[in-house]
Formats: sequence, C-alpha cells, structure tokens
Amino acid sequence: MSAPVIMWFRQDLRLSDHPALSAAAAAGPVIPLFVLDDDTPGEWRWGGASRWWLHHSLASLSKDVPLVLRRGRADAVLAEVMKATGARALFFTRDYAPWSAALEQRVKAACEQAGAQCHRYGGFLLHEPEAIRNGSGDYFKVYTPFSRACFARGEPRPVKGRAQVDWASHELDMPPLAGLSLTPANPDWAAGFGPAWQPGEAGARARLLRFLEQGLHGYAEGRDRPDQDNTSRLSPYLHWGEISPHQVWQATRQAMEQASGRLDHDGEKFLKEVLWREFAYSLVHHNPDFPEKPFRTEFTDFPWAEERDALLRWQRGETGYPIVDAGMRELWATGFMHNRVRMITASFLIKHLLQPWQQGERWFWDTLVDADIGNNAASWQWVAGCGADAAPYFRIFNPFLQGEKFDPAGDYVRKWLPELKDVPAATIHRPWDMTFPPRAYPPPMVEHGKARARALAAFGAIKKDEAS
Ligand SMILES: Cc1cc2nc3c(=O)[nH]c(=O)nc-3n(C[C@H](O)[C@H](O)[C@H](O)COP(=O)(O)OP(=O)(O)OC[C@H]3O[C@@H](n4cnc5c(N)ncnc54)[C@H](O)[C@@H]3O)c2cc1C
Repeated sequence: MSAPVIMWFRQDLRLSDHPALSAAAAAGPVIPLFVLDDDTPGEWRWGGASRWWLHHSLASLSKDVPLVLRRGRADAVLAEVMKATGARALFFTRDYAPWSAALEQRVKAACEQAGAQCHRYGGFLLHEPEAIRNGSGDYFKVYTPFSRACFARGEPRPVKGRAQVDWASHELDMPPLAGLSLTPANPDWAAGFGPAWQPGEAGARARLLRFLEQGLHGYAEGRDRPDQDNTSRLSPYLHWGEISPHQVWQATRQAMEQASGRLDHDGEKFLKEVLWREFAYSLVHHNPDFPEKPFRTEFTDFPWAEERDALLRWQRGETGYPIVDAGMRELWATGFMHNRVRMITASFLIKHLLQPWQQGERWFWDTLVDADIGNNAASWQWVAGCGADAAPYFRIFNPFLQGEKFDPAGDYVRKWLPELKDVPAATIHRPWDMTFPPRAYPPPMVEHGKARARALAAFGAIKKDEAS
C-alpha cells in the first residue's frame, strides 16, 4: 500500500466541493486530521459559541470520516503526525486570518523538513484576494467597484461533487472529541443553541434548500426585517466551511434560472451580500491589523468614554431600548443575531454609549456561532465609521425609529423580551411613553437626544484634530 497523505481540516469541514480533499484523495490513502490550535491565534482563539459549533460540526464530520483529533500549535502537531505516519504529502485549504500567512509558511517548512510535499488550495472564498484588483493594481477600498470587479470575472468555478476518499488506516491514537472540551458544562449557557441549529454539512445543505424555497423570494426587502424569516442563516456554515460559497452561489443561480426572472432582484441582492464576505476578507488580508485598529487612522485617538457598567448593560440586554435588548438576548440565547439588529446594537454601543467598537467586536467574537475574523471586524469598523467603505460616523441610528420601521408589530421584541409581551405595537419600541411602563423593564440608560449630541461632539473632536 502506498504511503498515506494528510488532509488537514480547518474551516472546511465538509466532503463535497472540496478542492484540497479531492486532490488529497487522488494522491493516495488519506489521514484526516483536525488540530485545535489555541496558541497561534493568541487573543483571537475561538470564542465560546464558536467552540460549541465546532464540537457539533466535528461530531458530524466524524460520522463519515475517521477523524484524528489533536490539540496544540498546528505546525508542530503536523510535523509530529507526518513523522509518525511517514506521510508523503499534506493538503489543506488556505485561510486568510492575520496570523495564517505566517502559520502556513511554518507548515510549509515543516513539510520540507519531513520530506513531504505541501499543497495549499482555495475554496473558502469565491475569489482569492490577490485576484480582485482595481485599475492601478491595488486592492479595492470601496465595496461597489469591488463587487463589480467580482461579477466581471464571470461565474465562479463550477461546483464539484463529493470526493471519493480512501481513508487511511494507521496506528495513531484516536482521542475522543469530548477530550477537546469544546462545549460548556456548568452552567450550560448553550442549551438554547441546539434547537436553533444543526451544525455540519447536512445541516448546511438543508438550510440552503430551505432558504431558496422559502426565504429568497422577497429577500431584497425582507432581509431587513428581524420579525421575518427571509435571510439564509448560512453564515456559521460558511464560516466553518460546511458549505462552500461556490455551492451557495451556484444553487442561487439555478433557483434564479428556474424562476425565469421572478427571483432576479432578490437573487442579485443575495449574491451581493455573499460578496460582502469576500470584500471583508480582502480588507483583512491586505491589512492584518484590521481586527484591532481603525482603518481610518484619524479614529486612533477617538475620545471614547470607556465604562464597564455601560458595556455590561449592553451585553446583558438591559439598556432600556427594546430593539437593542431583544438583539442582545437573541444573541445570548441562540448564538445569532439578525443583521439589521447587529447594526442597531453595534451603533448603540459605539455611538449612544461611546464604548470602543473593539469591545463589541470581542463580545460578538465570544457569543456568535458565526464569529468570523473577516466579517466581524469589517462590520464593526463599518458601523463605527472608521472602516474602509464605512457608514459615516455622524449618521446615528435612532433605536426606537429603527425598531418601529423594521419590527413594526413588535413581534421580534416580544419574542426576546418576555417582560414586554403584553405591550401593544404602538408603544413597544418606546415603553417609557406608556402611562404605566412595565415595571420589570428598565428605563432607557441614556436619553437618545443627549447621547446623539455627545457622540457628535466626540466625532467633532477628531475632525478638529485632523484639520489642525
Ligand atoms: C456589528 C456586526 C458584526 C457582524 N459580525 C459577523 C460575524 O462575526 N460573522 C459573520 O458571518 N457575519 C457578521 N456580520 C454580518 C452579517 O450580520 C451576517 O453575516 C448575517 O447576519 C448572517 O446572516 P445570514 O446568513 O442570514 O445572512 P444573509 O442575508 O442570508 O447573507 C448571506 C451570507 O452573506 C454574508 N454576509 C451577509 N451580510 C454580510 C455583511 N454585512 N458582511 C459580510 N458578510 C455578509 C454572510 O456570509 C451570510 O451568511 C456582522 C454584522 C454586523 C453589523
């Protein structure tokens, strides 16, 4: 029997449309390996909700694959496994986190040392960040021309089927998944995640089909409504590579074709959202500091009013603004929050409470099942006004008007704030206007007009510094 090769699984926990796995399968018997590496990303090691998802995703993959689980620095672990198995080659999917380029270099060096070939493939993105360039050969800083350049490249490569793999039998230890201690025990704060999600490739496919049948029609407008079920909720599946963006793209195109024009508007809008993910990764790839530092350097000395209590009340969903609190409670209960509400809650933290966007980014990193180094950083910078193609800082969401516009009957708020369940639609987004506001719900922690004025003054201070 020929010497085995190693498939190093990362954020590509699927078997179909998997370029690295297909190539590994063609090369010989495959040892499937996953390494939980908490060292290399440092402060950005997976947060709690991500770990819950990862556990269930690995459990799902293990049903089909004799997955070898290890913990430690990925390059060191790979070197050990190559030595122990005499593997001839290593296959993996490229990753774009700021620490990954150096890690992938070390992995390459480890392969050379072991006399093994090193093969890196794409698959996490539709387009490699180097491939999308503007007329001067630079990367795009603005989304619209970026997305146009993506569309101009033509359709992404066609989707490939499930790889037929000869999994290698070997003498390696097979420690159980529980040994990675990825799920919370005491307390089990993830109890509400199970009913909301089915991690793994089968769950991803089911979610995509359901969205194409039930959510895509009306997506362009409905995607802003947290009280409706119009969005795909594919973000954690895309993040963990349980489905490829190519599969999502191609299936959407097919649904559009079958609907002979009736889904064109909604489908185009959806594909453009998928391209925001590509744009986020292009920004992070070209700016490794992006998750920590404002892209617009004038924001470096922004006069934040850091205050632990304000941050805690926001995290707990006790701000007194129903749409904000409903979002924060949805997040805690399910590991997810609707995009419109992410924008409202993030804006509230940054502008009404004047807390640094990085604090919110960290909280989301720990609590979202789709916590993603590219999308999270780009979105927080977008809301904060300091990103590449960001919402202007002076555009400050009015939380109760946002609530009235996007959750008009108050169904979303009532779902997550049981203390407001009997409040009628007319006052649900401003319970403080009621003659007898519900006693169990706190009054607003800041007054909107004052908070707005304070935020604008803080923004004015950096503009002045810039001018002087
Ligand atoms: C403050 C803030 C933080 C965020 N943090 C994350 C995060 O950690 N991980 C994450 O995946 N998304 C993040 N987003 C983006 C967006 O909210 C989610 O991708 C979206 O809500 C996921 O739901 P969906 O799959 O139903 O989206 P759909 O509307 O069905 O969109 C389809 C896919 O397109 C991509 N997408 C959609 N909107 C965006 C966007 N604005 N930026 C980048 N990609 C997008 C996602 O991969 C998504 O699954 C954040 C947004 C905000 C405002």
